[in-house]
This record gives sequence, structure tokens and C-alpha cells, in this order.
Amino acid sequence: MAVASGQSAQAVQAEVEAWIDEQWDAGLTVRQWWGRLADAGLSYSHLEPPFGRSYNREQVAAVFAALRAKGAMGPPAGIGTMLALPTILTHGTQEQIDRFVRPIIDGSEGWCQLFSEPGAGSDLAGLQTRAERDGDEWRVSGQKVWTSTGQVADYGILIARTNPEAPKHQGITYFLFPMHQPGVDVRPLREMTGRAVFNEVFLDGARVPDAYRLGDTNTGWAVANTTLMHERAGIGEASGGYGRAAPGTVAGHLDRPCHEFLTAGRASMVQGHISLGTIHRFIALARERGLLDDPLIRQEIAALHTRVQVIMWSARRAKGGAGSRTGVEGPLAKVAMSQAVEAGRELGCHILGPDAQLWGREAVTDGWFQELVVFSPAPAIYGGTDQVQRNIIGERGLGLPKEPGHPRETPFRELPANTTR
Ligand SMILES: Cc1cc2nc3c(=O)[nH]c(=O)nc-3n(C[C@H](O)[C@H](O)[C@H](O)COP(=O)(O)OP(=O)(O)OC[C@H]3O[C@@H](n4cnc5c(N)ncnc54)[C@H](O)[C@@H]3O)c2cc1C
Repeated sequence: MAVASGQSAQAVQAEVEAWIDEQWDAGLTVRQWWGRLADAGLSYSHLEPPFGRSYNREQVAAVFAALRAKGAMGPPAGIGTMLALPTILTHGTQEQIDRFVRPIIDGSEGWCQLFSEPGAGSDLAGLQTRAERDGDEWRVSGQKVWTSTGQVADYGILIARTNPEAPKHQGITYFLFPMHQPGVDVRPLREMTGRAVFNEVFLDGARVPDAYRLGDTNTGWAVANTTLMHERAGIGEASGGYGRAAPGTVAGHLDRPCHEFLTAGRASMVQGHISLGTIHRFIALARERGLLDDPLIRQEIAALHTRVQVIMWSARRAKGGAGSRTGVEGPLAKVAMSQAVEAGRELGCHILGPDAQLWGREAVTDGWFQELVVFSPAPAIYGGTDQVQRNIIGERGLGLPKEPGHPRETPFRELPANTTR
């Protein structure tokens, strides 16, 4: 299939639909289908060849439209594609790109993000996990927490302290960390959704080769900022999320047929964003309940629709070639989306009334709305809390004075423990 980057979106969609007619079969295994998508440069088609087709935003949207139109499964999603991929492409050596990118985009390796610690979430640069050089390797000890999909990950993007004598932002190094080894203990944490999306991860003398260090030693904070920028923008744009089939060798999905993952199942419904599709569901629900003429419900629906439409336009503008206008597009998008999720939760409760509280087999809406309710506090927390995003918008976007704290040049070792370091 030829790569013609000047093609119109319609031409791309027609071409991809023809390709899907030839290649797609719901009986293929997930591994086979994701492999075909990656071979054709269609998994993440905005990437440059050999991984993608350098497609622009409209052309990428046309690829997804073709997949939807043909009922074909989408490419792998999750932390590998949302966070590890752009960070490795930005900071990786050619060897690292050759080693890691293809298994991310064909889903054959799954990833997690080993950033947050019990004492370092908002104050991420205060992290205490240590990495010490040992020949060609590093030895890593410490504790991470909130590690989404850690129990099914093959690799983790890990930040660890490599120089406690340096100021806190200057003694951190970034690693591409193998999860399957002695010294890595992953313990799932159950949430109020009933699932265990995230985990605590204990590291005790675990090893990572120096060849898997991303960026120079002690420059990991800058590398981590690339990840965080993509995380905030991705959450705001709802581009991340959890696909129905999980990538990686542990989840056991790769060798199962695609058709098993095509039908919507409650168990896989993590509702971390509101799309125009969600709003159509609310409209259908209001109609079903005879509330479509209720002026307050109409007003709430219109307000949520406006909010989501503005989020989509803002995301498009941020990526539309004009570049960053404020430097804080990611934090703005992230806060806007978590507010939209909260507004969606309220709207659904107003439509459903007491029925919103039913759970399990009794749940109306087949439970998708209840999933949204129990997951709704999460978007305001992950990717850096909304309060912290507002600090960033205030300081970097509006030029407000920085929060009071210890002088930036204070060596990490001299910062008092158990405070914001
Ligand atoms: C569903 C989910 C998935 C997650 N997945 C991952 C993952 O895969 N990998 C990972 O590394 N992390 C993950 N996280 C962790 C997330 O990034 C942290 O929870 C977040 O950064 C907040 O850190 P904390 O929990 O330590 O809260 P704290 O930092 O202890 O904050 C507690 C409260 O204090 C407020 N606060 C703190 N500092 C300030 C300040 N300076 N100004 C104003 N208010 C402040 C916060 O806003 C918050 O309300 C996930 C979180 C959730 C909810």
C-alpha cells in the first residue's frame, strides 16, 4: 500500500477501507491483527516511516473512521502507546528506538508508568527510589504506587534518584525498566470500581541495563516532563484509555481471536472521559425517561456538549501546527476533561434519579453510567491533580509568583523528610 501523505482525508479513508476488506478477519488473533496494522503503518499512522505514514491529524482521524466503519479492531492502547512511545521517540538512541517502538505499536509488549511513590505524587521530583550504578547495570530499590496496569506490564518507564547530593530536580534518571525479574513485587490495589487497575510495586535490588537508560544520567526530570506533557494532553484529549484487548505478554489477550474483544463488556469499561458519543447516550437516556423536554436537563446537556466541543477544538488547535500558544495547553486540557467527567456524572444522576444508585445486574444503562460514576474522581487525580495543574497554569501561563518552598538549588539530601521536598 503506497504512502501518499498529500492525500485527502476521504482518499485515506477509502484506501484504508479497501485495505481492511483485504486484511481484516475477526477470527485473526489479536497479535496477528495488530501485527498487520503495524506492518502497514496504520497503528499509529502519525509516526514517521518505518513505524507510521507521517499522516496529519485529519488523515489519522480517517484511519480510525475506516476501522470503525468496517467494524475492525483498533490498534493497541495504554501506557506504552500514550507515554512510553513519544518519550522514547523524543529522547531515545537509535538502538532504543529499534528495540522498543515496534513492540509498543504492535502491542506485543505492555508498559506501565513507575513514577508516583507513597511520598511523591504531586511533588514528583521528591521521589526516593534509588538507582545505583553496578557495572553495565543499575540496581534499583524503593517503592512505587498507583502503577496502572503494572500487573500486566512487560516494561515500565521508571524514574529514580541517582544523585541525592544534587538538587532534587537534577539527581533523577529515567529508565526503560524490565518488569519480569526477581526484585520486582507487584501487588494489585482494589478500587471502588471493583477492579484493580493500579498496583503498588516494591523494588528490591532490581536490575536495569545502562543501555536502557533514557537520556543522560541525572537528566531524567527533563525526560519525565516529556512523558507528563503527553499524559496531560492525552487525558485532556481522551486519546489514551484502556483498549478492550490489553497489550503485552502477561494479560493473555494476544493469542485470542479479535472477535472476543469486539463486543462491549462491562468489565472493560473504564470511563475516564466524556466524548460526543457519551453525550448522545445521555440524550437517549433522557428521551427514554421522558425528560428530553425538561428545561433543566436540556440546559445541562447543552452545557456539557458545549464543554466537550470546546475541549475537542482546543486539542485540535494545540496540535494544529500553530504550536503552543500558552505553554500550558496540556494542563488546561486535563482540567477541562476532569470537569467534563464530573459534569457528566451529575447530569446522569439527574436523569436517572435514584436508579443511578443501582449496581450490578440491577443497574440500568447496562452499568456504563455506574462505571462512570465510580471512576469519576480519578481524572482529577491522575496525570497530576487538578490543583497542581492550576498551579502550573498560574505560574507558567499567567506568570504568577511561584509557590513558596525550599530554594531550588538545595541538595536533595538536605531537604527535610516527610515534607514537600
Ligand atoms: C486512576 C489513577 C491511575 C494512576 N496511574 C498512575 C500510574 O500509572 N503511574 C504513576 O506513576 N502514577 C499514577 N497515578 C498517580 C497520580 O499521578 C497521583 O495520584 C497524583 O499525582 C497525586 O499524587 P498523590 O496521590 O501522592 O497525592 P498528593 O500529592 O499527596 O496530594 C494530596 C492532595 O493535596 C493536593 N496538593 C498537593 N500538593 C499541592 C500543591 N502544591 N498545591 C495545591 N494542592 C496540592 C493535591 O491536589 C491533592 O488534592 C494514578 C492515579 C490515579 C487516581
